[in-house]
Amino acid sequence: MGDPREPCDLPAHEIAARLASGEGSAGQVVESSLARIEAVDGRVRSFLAVTAEQARQRAAEVDRRRVAGETLSAVAGIPLALKDVLATRGIPTTCGSQILRGYVPPYDCTAWARLQAAGSVLVGKTNCDEFAMGSSTENSSFHPTHNPWDLDAVPGGSSGGSAAAVASGQAVWALGTDTGGSVRQPAALCGVVGMKPTYGLVSRYGLIAFASSLDHVGTFTRTVRDAATLLSAIGGHDPRDATSLPGPPPDLAATLEEGVRGLRIGVLEEGFGEGVEPGVRDRIGEAVDRLAALGAEIGEATLPHAGYTLSAYYLIAPAEASSNLARYDGVRYGHRADDPRDVVDMMTRTRGEGFGDEVKRRIMIGTYALSAGYYDAYYGQAQKVRTLIIRDYEEAFGSFDLLLSPTSPTTAFRLGERTDDPMAMYLSDVFTIPANLAGVPAISVPCGVDERGLPVGLQLTGKVLDEATVLRAAHAFEQDLGWTTRPPLLEAAAG
Ligand code: GLN
Repeated sequence: MGDPREPCDLPAHEIAARLASGEGSAGQVVESSLARIEAVDGRVRSFLAVTAEQARQRAAEVDRRRVAGETLSAVAGIPLALKDVLATRGIPTTCGSQILRGYVPPYDCTAWARLQAAGSVLVGKTNCDEFAMGSSTENSSFHPTHNPWDLDAVPGGSSGGSAAAVASGQAVWALGTDTGGSVRQPAALCGVVGMKPTYGLVSRYGLIAFASSLDHVGTFTRTVRDAATLLSAIGGHDPRDATSLPGPPPDLAATLEEGVRGLRIGVLEEGFGEGVEPGVRDRIGEAVDRLAALGAEIGEATLPHAGYTLSAYYLIAPAEASSNLARYDGVRYGHRADDPRDVVDMMTRTRGEGFGDEVKRRIMIGTYALSAGYYDAYYGQAQKVRTLIIRDYEEAFGSFDLLLSPTSPTTAFRLGERTDDPMAMYLSDVFTIPANLAGVPAISVPCGVDERGLPVGLQLTGKVLDEATVLRAAHAFEQDLGWTTRPPLLEAAAG
């Protein structure tokens, strides 16, 4: 049997090479992605909006330029999906919330503006937990998304729609956002590569805010090389984001092939503790052996304050969210309650009707944590813990170039399994949140499947602005593992 893969199943760098050599067109690639959406999204439900006509027009434009002899950028003509918290001019952007149902932004987020200028083709906006609050995409106020590896399981979250779209070939790559793990955890659960860069490397302009000091734009790709390419295309200084770091877009592909020989990798002991499934522990253990065999120097590491991660995050993130979400008051945009008696009634009912339970829970916790008399005890204390975790990283990076752990303690769980238990849901991000608190870059790269055939993700975390080392180690690991297993959904479709 021949290669069952369609163009939309290929990594972006292979598609780009084909386009450059005149083998196939952007039009064919985008048609293959749209056909896949048609074939599987009724079951996976990745998308909140599919932008088929625009995608076709843009692909045709790329083909015109290609035929005219123009050298295309590395992202030109490649089907992209964007999480629906990223503002897209003229295309509805809902944050998975009723409060923004029908909202059409008058501007583009910087990440998409840069990709668009480079010829990227948007195929649609993806489902997510409401305002990115969640770990399973079940908090979307529209519908849940299903994991392509097991349609009864969650894709992870909050960027579950983007992860599932890339895993099922509906998009070749995608952007998501990561405030506490929302790129890396769904990437792990869907068997794709998920990368969160250093805080400030990618502009947050047009990323509709959840918790501004923790929010990052991140990438979903099929390969580590594609992560380097996509991140290089969206990174670099943006005067529209006050927290954007200075400097031009990085060239992250340049050092990809340098291997891991001599790199010092610290294995976080927390990653093997209670609550980590045996299937995850086994795959991570094998990954450590593989990296050692490739020449990395392996040692034991710890973040001594990691035990306080969730407590600190679940004060800081809701505190910032309560402030950021104050703007949804029915006055300027989005939902407005019918027939208000007066302005207080209008705002109260608008917010009561427009926000779902998890968002309300966070607004209440955050408002409480910030209130006079409690500020120091809760928010102030959490900020001090955040500083301790930042110091833990500095200490660990005194001895190591990279830190290694599982991305998630479990593989994909059942839809509905954790919806009544917020604490169980919050535990999904115990290994990913520390990197958000510290702003350091981290990647999740597939490292095989558990005994149920569900993907396991390996997380590698690096120093501030050392994306190059994170990517180079992940690339070496990925090449050596040579994992090509595809979701059963696609194997069945290929017959
Ligand atoms: N699951 C975490 C939360 O619910 C992280 C979400 C995210 O990274 N956006 O807050």
